[in-house]
Amino acid sequence: MYDWLIVGAGFAGSVLAERLARVRGDRVLVIDRRPHIGGNAYDHLDAAGVLIHRYGPHIFHTNSKQVFDYLSRFTAWRPYEHRVLADVRRPGCGTAVQVPMPINLDTVNRLYGLDLSESEVEAWMASRAEAVPEIRTSEDVVVSKVGRELYELFFRGYTRKQWACDPSELDKSVTARVPTRTNCDDRYFTDTFQAMPQAGYTEMFRQMLAHPNITVQTGVDYAAVRDSIPHRRVIWSGPVDEYFDFRFGRLPYRSLRFEHRTLNQAQYQPVGTVNYPAEDVPYTRISEYKHLTGQDHPKTSITLEYPSAEGDPYYPIPRPQNQALYKRYEALADAQTDVWFVGRLATYRYYNMDQIVGQALATFARIDATVPPRAANDAAEATGVPAIAG
Ligand code: FAD
Ligand code: UDP
Repeated sequence: MYDWLIVGAGFAGSVLAERLARVRGDRVLVIDRRPHIGGNAYDHLDAAGVLIHRYGPHIFHTNSKQVFDYLSRFTAWRPYEHRVLADVRRPGCGTAVQVPMPINLDTVNRLYGLDLSESEVEAWMASRAEAVPEIRTSEDVVVSKVGRELYELFFRGYTRKQWACDPSELDKSVTARVPTRTNCDDRYFTDTFQAMPQAGYTEMFRQMLAHPNITVQTGVDYAAVRDSIPHRRVIWSGPVDEYFDFRFGRLPYRSLRFEHRTLNQAQYQPVGTVNYPAEDVPYTRISEYKHLTGQDHPKTSITLEYPSAEGDPYYPIPRPQNQALYKRYEALADAQTDVWFVGRLATYRYYNMDQIVGQALATFARIDATVPPRAANDAAEATGVPAIAG
């Protein structure tokens, strides 16, 4: 009898497995329908021996010391600050140029052939910004800061490709992920902790799951085993609508097709990621892993991301009508007593890795306060006296 059947071996499932087994001595079975652990953060050596991320580039960054300290138990780190260029055409002349993204002082100066200072670029942006009475959408966020020309150049096409809808139809939180700067800081993220697991994500997950009370089975779907494997409770980190057999209809997710290429050269591009916002280019970005991993190798591997409606559900789509549908599923989830819903797909939230770790640690605290641990459950079964939480 397992105390927990955990569905999904990504961050949500693995953090909970580790905490339940190590802190409480519970017996845990983790299953994943993919043939590996790590969820979307899974990395591996490709045929040429280059470490790549199967599901697109994953860069770890967080402001949470708690999350960073927790993960540091399972990995050493390689300091890494991600930098991104955007491949765009200069307004007016139309020549192709690669400039820093997020938009900063250098982006404006290089794009327009200017030599503005920090305070001058602030005034320059303010003079182009549109007055938006209430910032609601992903279009509002950008046009209210930098105006329509830069919005169209950097955001409109990229967003329409990525989400198959116009930024004016998407919640403001989507483009608000990417700031606008008036200084020359060209880092994609400014979090306190920015680093990559030194031996890779998969190795970090391996360490996390290496406990005698944890059994891991990959290539196993929940539907195939839920009735045959004895277990007391479930932690679900798959899509919430799937758990309830799509009772209210399907929640919209956006997918990607990843094209992995190995090149017979040591380096392909100057930074980890180059974005291609133009709508006539079918992919959104190209990432080169050696920048992230620091691997020394005569070849290099890159990944092109092609947004798609078909395929694995990668991104919940933040729109008001989708949130309303999710709320109906959330009400069903809240009514379950022995099933806990955790993770990006199970809570339909566009969360980064660190936010999922934080969510899983918070869920563990709630479980620990309300669910009796294994020993108490076993004793209760033997004596018939109900167990209480510790
Ligand atoms: P997942 O990693 O999706 O794990 C859920 C697992 O459940 C999956 O492996 C799935 O196979 C399994 N599963 C689902 N249903 C079943 C079932 N019925 N039976 C068995 N198994 C099942 N975050 C960052 O912080 N930095 C980044 O740079 C970054 N880049 C990203 C790039 C891309 C292209 C994508 C898509 C995401 C990126 N993220 C990034 C977000 C990050 O991937 C997620 O926050 C994180 O992986 C979510 O972890 P999770 O455990 O909730 O879900
Ligand atoms: N975005 C954009 N142009 C860019 C980068 C981002 O329009 O060059 C928008 C786009 O809608 C994207 C969102 O901002 O989906 C969030 O970007 P982020 O890089 O955080 O996306 P993720 O890494 O989560 O795919």
